[in-house]
This record gives sequence, structure tokens and C-alpha cells, in this order.
Amino acid sequence: MILLLFDIDKTLIDRSECHHRAFRHAFHEVFEKDADIDIINYHGKTDPQIACEVLKKEGLAENFIKKKLEEFKEVLSSYFILNVKYDHIVVLDGVRDLIVELESQGMLLGLITGNLESIARAKLKHVGLDKYFKLGGFGSDNYHRPYLVSTAIKRASLEYDFRGNNSHVFVIGDTPWDIKAGMENKTRTIGVSTGIYSPRELKDAGADFVLDSLKYKKEFMGFLKSR
Ligand SMILES: [Mg+2]
Repeated sequence: MILLLFDIDKTLIDRSECHHRAFRHAFHEVFEKDADIDIINYHGKTDPQIACEVLKKEGLAENFIKKKLEEFKEVLSSYFILNVKYDHIVVLDGVRDLIVELESQGMLLGLITGNLESIARAKLKHVGLDKYFKLGGFGSDNYHRPYLVSTAIKRASLEYDFRGNNSHVFVIGDTPWDIKAGMENKTRTIGVSTGIYSPRELKDAGADFVLDSLKYKKEFMGFLKSR
């Protein structure tokens, strides 16, 4: 069996304005800060990690942030779930087609995302993709991305009887952090340059294979079979 673990933002979908707005709302509600996640490079980071980095930059102490982090996550998640219906999320080129094909070939699909699980699920449900992803590692599981990969693999073995070794696992994402998280867990890695990082940067991060877009289904399938 093959397990494929996909990042969400800028790998499967793009332009979730609602997620940005949810951060602004929660920064204001919980920490009384008018802050925006754009003041840091948030690509490839988990939601709790993004919150901490932004708030530290806004001058708040780490202890204080950590104390209110659970409340922050709840506010972030409720705002998102309530407002996602107004969001104009774009499913990236070829993604739907690829996912349907992978599922029809009996592969096990999962997510590796810094999004809280509730946000990840609501986002994908909004565009009709949620049902394909049976399990995952989420920003609500851990602060650091590499742990999300091991969490997802553990869930695959416990809940879906996944018996392959880590070379049967592929991590697919648009940032060097996705690639590194895969490498730390000795999985195969596929970089897709639909985010802010170039094919060169993804290759340099150690990606085993790099594509400009997931619309290149034949090449993607070819790589899975070449292992
Ligand atoms: Mg991403």
C-alpha cells in the first residue's frame, strides 16, 4: 500500500482569505492586538507557530502567549468555521483529477498541514475534497511540522492497517519545510512549485522529485511507480 500525505495551502488549494481574517480576529479577541500574519514568513508553518511568531514580533512574552494559546486556537477555529462559506477558495489546477485517480488506484490519502484539524477539514469540505483524505497530521497535533508526518503515519498504521515502511510514504508540498518534514521521517518527497518557492529551492531542500503543478498527472504517477 502507498500512503500519500498532502500539504493543503498552495499545494491543493489557494486563496483562503478567511484563514487570514480568522487570525486577525483571534489576535484582536484574545490578545487585543491588531496584527496580521503577513509580518512574518508564515509559509510551511503550523497555525500555533504562526500565532506565536507574530505575537512575539508584536512584543508579547512567550509565557503569556502560551498561556492563552488554547483559547486562541478555539477562537481561530470558530471564526473560520462560521465564515468559510463566504471564502473564495481556489482548487489548484489538476488537483481534483489527480486525487480522484489516486483514490481509484487504492492509495491511502492523508494530509500534512499546519492548519488546525477543524480548519483543514472545513476548508477542504468547502471545495468538496475533504472526503478523500482519511487521516492526517495537523497543526492541532503539534507545534512542529516533522512530528505531523510521524503522527499521520502512526494513524495510518493504527486506523487503516498501513503496513508499508517509510519508503512507501510520499510527502507532497510547496515549501522546503514540507520537504524537510518528509526527509526527517525518511519518506519520499515531492515538491510542487505552486507556492512562493521555485523548483530550484525545492530541489535544494532535498525533494526527490519536483513538479511545476499537480496538473502533470502522468509525471506524478510515473514517479510513484519508479520508486
Ligand atoms: Mg503549503
